[in-house]
This record gives sequence, structure tokens and C-alpha cells, in this order.
Amino acid sequence: MTATEMNGKELAKKVRTDLAGEVLQLKEKGITPHLTVIIIGDDPASKSYVRGKEKASAEIGMSSDIIALPSSTSEQDLLNQIDDLNRNETVHGILVQLPLPDHINEQQVIESISPEKDVDGFHPVNIGKMVTGNSTFLPCTPYGIITMLKAHDVSMEGKHAVILGRSNIVGKPIGQLLLNENATVTHCHSRTENLTEYTKEADILILAMGRANAIRGEHVKNGAVIVDVGINRLEDGSLTGDADFPSAAAKASKITPVPRGVGPMTITMLLKNTIKAAKGLSAVGK
Ligand code: NDP
Repeated sequence: MTATEMNGKELAKKVRTDLAGEVLQLKEKGITPHLTVIIIGDDPASKSYVRGKEKASAEIGMSSDIIALPSSTSEQDLLNQIDDLNRNETVHGILVQLPLPDHINEQQVIESISPEKDVDGFHPVNIGKMVTGNSTFLPCTPYGIITMLKAHDVSMEGKHAVILGRSNIVGKPIGQLLLNENATVTHCHSRTENLTEYTKEADILILAMGRANAIRGEHVKNGAVIVDVGINRLEDGSLTGDADFPSAAAKASKITPVPRGVGPMTITMLLKNTIKAAKGLSAVGK
């Protein structure tokens, strides 16, 4: 079998066109969805992600601003800054770019963002709502994956979804969302014994380890759907996923490429969440 490519860049473009229409409608009502991103320090990857979010916001007519703070910023100063943004009615979404410097408690920061403005979907209140299947801001990468699977008519109900990875931002929440879609879910991680026994059983295989080209065709069930979340930079500067693309694609029925796969969908869902936040404010008449 040779897999069909699930191209996230193309789908993201389509979804963003729809979102631009929603922004226009909100603007007609006097509301411009606004995202504020806080970045601390000089990490080049974080800076590039933040610029990407700003550009994507502008492209669909949303407004955004970046608050760039030095890595010496104290936790209290950051919490005060977030408190101001929580109270600012023109700010609909707040995102603190992770990772944070070691002297700042990441969990404390996540919990200080108002759940109504937590467009990353990392606040425990929003995670709780996701787990119980209630409306909330879904974490952007898993939300993007589910959106992609649905757009490509991948049936999830009753299927065995195997997830390699259990991080709070990707592995755990994508497992929960697949469970909410009635898949049977198995989580694997670095302590899993005989990993490939599980990968070979997967109807839907989610790769979120950050291990370049680790999963090859012989580890994959014939006809499986593979979503490759991994982003790994090789020595020559190129990017690759967790799958060895040629051999995995030869076995799978559908597969996401890296790049142009999950990445563009992640930012798209951030935009979607921010628009949702802006709509929430309008619903209570603010
Ligand atoms: P983490 O490093 O937080 O988590 C990696 C997970 O993979 C852990 O649960 C770890 O297990 C597991 N793991 C690592 N090595 C192995 C192994 N050899 N066998 C089985 N499991 C293993 O990463 P993230 O979840 O943040 O990200 C995962 C990947 O996805 C990265 O490449 C990242 O760059 C990419 N990413 C892509 C995004 C996108 O938009 N496309 C967004 C976010 C991330 P354990 O828990 O036991 O340590």
C-alpha cells in the first residue's frame, strides 16, 4: 500500500480562510480578536514560533502583540503581567511561550492565566473540561490532529489508536481526544517494553517522541493511518519526523509529512481558539 499524504499546510489554508470570514463578522460587531503572546529570553526556536503566530494572526485579520521579556524576569513580574492581561478586556487570548527559564515555575504560570483566555488549552480547568468531554479550549496540537483526521475521513470509532509519547502538550491530550472519539487508546513511552508490538497493532499511529526516523515500515500495520508530530532537526539542517517516511508511507494508508503536516494545523487551532475566546466575551455583552 502507498499512503495518501495528509497535507497540513493545505488544510490549514482552507481552515484559515473560514476563520478570516469569522474575524470579519466579529469586526462588524466591533470586536477584533486579539492574541497576546509573552516570550521570555532569547531562544531562537521560541522566537521563530512566536513570529509565526503573529504573522498567522495578521493574515486572518486578527490583532496580536508580543511582550518580550528578558530571561532575568522574576516569576512575580511575569505573574503581574499576566494579571494585567487577564483584566484587559481588549485581550481575548493569552499565550506564554514555553519553555520558561528554570527559575520560573511553569505550572504556576499556566494556572495564573484566566481559563477564559487560555487559548493554549493548558490550564487545569480546561484540561478537566477536555477530559469530561465538555466545551473548552482544546490544546492546539491535538486539536489540529483531530481536525486533520476528520477532514481526511479517518474513522476513529472502535479503532486502535497507539500513541508514542505522553507529554502534557501532545501525547496525553491526543489520547484523550481520540478516546472522546471512541477509539481504543494505548499510550507508549520511553519505559514501554517491546514498543513495536504495539505499533504493529495500531490502526491509527500517533508519533510524538521527538526521535528522528525511529519508526519504519516494518513497525507499522498494513493500511495504518500515521500522524507524525515529531519535529527533528538533522545535522544538515533539514527537518524530519519520527517516521522513516518512505518505508512508513509504503505500508500506511494515510500519513502526514514533516514539515507541512501537523505544524501548520497547530497554529491554525490557536487562531481558532482565540476567535472562540473573542466570541465568548461578546456573548456576555462585553
Ligand atoms: P516530550 O519530549 O515532552 O515528550 C516525548 C515523549 O516521547 C515522552 O513521553 C517520552 O517518554 C516519549 N519517548 C521518547 N523517546 C521514546 C522512545 N524511544 N520510545 C518510546 N517513547 C519515547 O516532547 P513533546 O511531546 O513536547 O513533543 C514531541 C515531538 O513533537 C517533538 O519532536 C516536538 O518537537 C514535536 N512537536 C510538534 C508540534 C507540532 O506542532 N508539529 C507541537 C509540539 C511538539 P517519557 O514520558 O517516558 O519520557
